Amino acid sequence: MQLLKTLLVIFLWMTALDLPAQDSSYTKPALTSDPDHFRRQYQQDSTKKMIELKSMIPRIVYDLRYATTNNFMHRLMYPAGTNQTFLRLPAAKALLQVQSELALQGKGLKIFDAYRPWSVTARFWELVKDERYVANPSRGSGHNRGVAVDLTVIWLKDGTELNMGTGFDNFSDSAHQGYTRLPDEILQNRKLLKSLMEKNGFKALETEWWHYSLPEASRFEILDIPFKKIRKNL
Ligand SMILES: [Zn+2]
Repeated sequence: MQLLKTLLVIFLWMTALDLPAQDSSYTKPALTSDPDHFRRQYQQDSTKKMIELKSMIPRIVYDLRYATTNNFMHRLMYPAGTNQTFLRLPAAKALLQVQSELALQGKGLKIFDAYRPWSVTARFWELVKDERYVANPSRGSGHNRGVAVDLTVIWLKDGTELNMGTGFDNFSDSAHQGYTRLPDEILQNRKLLKSLMEKNGFKALETEWWHYSLPEASRFEILDIPFKKIRKNL
C-alpha cells in the first residue's frame, strides 16, 4: 500500500510539474561481458574478485527484490529464483566488518541488491528513463561495478527490519539522508547503519538511505555478466 501511495505521489507530482520527457538515448560504455576476460582481470588484481556474500559473511540475510516482483517496477528484473548476490572483494570484506559490529548488538544486515549486470541497468532505463530514479546506463553504476549495495539492518533473533521510516526504493524526500523530520528512533536507526558503513569505507548517497558504495568505483570495470556465469567463474 505504501508503495502504491508513493508511486501515485510521484505520478501526480510529475503531472503537476508537467515535466518534459528526458532524453532517453544512451551510449554503451566500455564494459566486460566476456567471463574469460573478467577472470583475467581478477587474476591480475585480486581486489577485482567477486564474492558471493553468504560465502564470506555469517548470518547475512537476502531479500533480493529484483528477483521478485516486490520492487518499484513490479517486474522481475533478474532471473526468477536468483538467490545469490555478489560484491568485489574489498566491498565484501567491509560488509563483513559491519556485520561483525552489528552482531555485538544482536543485529545484522539484510541485502536488497548488490552487483547488478549492466544490461539490467539498461533495461531499468528503457522502462523509466529518469535519472532521479534509475542510473543512466551511459556511465554504468556502482552496482554494475560490484561496489554498491542496497541494504538495511535487522534483528538477528527474528529477522525483523529496524524501522528506517521508508521502504527500499522509496523515492520521496523522507528517504533522504538529510531528512530529519522523523521520529528519533528512525533517525537513530539510519545513523547506526550510516556510521558503521562509513567507518568501514563506504560512502552514503544523499537521496537513498539504503544505498552505499565504495569510493574510487571507477577503477572497477562495469560488468555485464549474468549471476550464473559470475558464480561459475569464481
Ligand atoms: Zn543502490
